Amino acid sequence: MQLDKRVVIIGGGLSGLTLAYLLKQNGLQALILEASSRLGGRIQTIKGKNETPLELGATWFSDIHPNLLSLIDELELIKYPQFSKGISFFKTKSFEPAQQFFVPEAELPSYRLAGGTQTLIDSLSAKLNSENIQLNTKVKAIKELDHEVLIETTNGKEFQADKVIVCIPPQLALSSIQYFPELGTDVNAIFSNVQTWMSGSIKFVLEYDEAFWRKNGQSGMLYSHTGIISEMYDHTNIEGNKFGFTGFLSGAAANYSQELRKELLLQQLHELFGEKIMKPLSYFDKIWNDEYISGANQIIQRPHQNNGHKVLQDSYLSGKLYFSATETSSIYPGYMEGAVCAAKRVLRDLKG
Ligand SMILES: Cc1cc2nc3c(=O)[nH]c(=O)nc-3n(C[C@H](O)[C@H](O)[C@H](O)COP(=O)(O)OP(=O)(O)OC[C@H]3O[C@@H](n4cnc5c(N)ncnc54)[C@H](O)[C@@H]3O)c2cc1C
Repeated sequence: MQLDKRVVIIGGGLSGLTLAYLLKQNGLQALILEASSRLGGRIQTIKGKNETPLELGATWFSDIHPNLLSLIDELELIKYPQFSKGISFFKTKSFEPAQQFFVPEAELPSYRLAGGTQTLIDSLSAKLNSENIQLNTKVKAIKELDHEVLIETTNGKEFQADKVIVCIPPQLALSSIQYFPELGTDVNAIFSNVQTWMSGSIKFVLEYDEAFWRKNGQSGMLYSHTGIISEMYDHTNIEGNKFGFTGFLSGAAANYSQELRKELLLQQLHELFGEKIMKPLSYFDKIWNDEYISGANQIIQRPHQNNGHKVLQDSYLSGKLYFSATETSSIYPGYMEGAVCAAKRVLRDLKG
C-alpha cells in the first residue's frame, strides 16, 4: 500500500474506526468525517444515576464472531457472559400467566463487554490521532476529479483524497450522499434495497440499586408476545455492583410518548417482578430511526435484505471509492462481526 495516499473515511462507527485503526497499523493515517456529535454509530453506551453502563445499541456477541473477538483481545478489553441463571419468563398470551423456563447451561454464551460496548469505540479512537477525527461533519457529495476525489460536507467544508471509504449503511449512503458521476441505475437499485440492520428498533434500559430479581431466583430474562416489551435481559455490570435491565420494545411503541412507554413497560413487569420493579433509578429508551441510521426515511424491508451483495463490495469512481459498513459484509452482515469483517475486506482491497 502506498503510504502517501490520502484516505478519507466517512462514518465513525465500528467499521470506520476499525478501518482507521487497521490503516494506522499499516502506516497510513486516515481522516474520519462523522456526521453526529459522537463516535460509535449503532454502538451507544450511556450511564445511569449510579454510573451503570447501559446499552442503547449493540450489546452481545459470541464465540461465532472470531474477528470481533480477536479485535477485543488485541485492544485488551474484557468480555463476560450474559447472566441467565434462574427462572426466565415466556409470555405468549395476555390472558394466561407467563410460562417459566431455565436457559440450559450448555448453551453457547452471549458475551458483553466490561464497561459497555462503548469501550470498544473508545479504545479504537484512542489509538488514532484526535486531529484525524472530525465530528459534526456530515458528508453530502463525493465528486471524482482526474486523479482524486472531492468530498463536500453540509457545513461547507471540502476535502480532497486519493481514496474515500463510505462506512455508513448502504441505503443511507445512497439517500444522503450524491455521487458524481452517478453510481448507475443497477447499483442504485441494490443500494436502495439494503436493509439497515436494527433500523427502527426500540431499545430500553432500566437501572436499579439492587438486583432483587436475582435474590428471588429469577434471571431477569423475559420474552413476550404480549405487552410493550418483547425481550428483556439482566444488565448487571461485570463487577456485580451496578444493576439493571436492557431489552427491546415492540415497534408500535414508537407512536407513544416516552412517558407512556415507561408506564406500560413497568405495568408489564409488575406482574412478574413485584413492587420493587416500579421504582427504577433511571429509565431511557431510544428509537433507532434518526438521520444517522435511516435518514428518518423508514422503509420496511426483509431482515438482512441484500446484505453482503457483491455490488456493495465493488469499488467505484475508477477504484477511488469503496463501501464498508456492516451491511456490506457477507459474513454476519448487520452485526459487529460484520462491521469488523467489512473493514478488513476494504483493507485487503486497498493493499491490492
Ligand atoms: C438497537 C441495536 C441493537 C444492536 N444489537 C447488536 C448486538 O447485540 N450485537 C451485534 O453484534 N450487533 C448489534 N447491533 C448492530 C451493530 O450495532 C452494528 O452492526 C454496528 O455497530 C455497525 O457499525 P457500522 O460502522 O457498520 O455502522 P454504524 O454504526 O451505523 O456507523 C455509521 C456512522 O456513520 C455516521 N454517518 C451517517 N451518515 C453520515 C454522513 N452523511 N456523513 C458522515 N457520517 C455519517 C453515523 O452517524 C454513524 O456514526 C445493534 C444495533 C442496534 C441499533
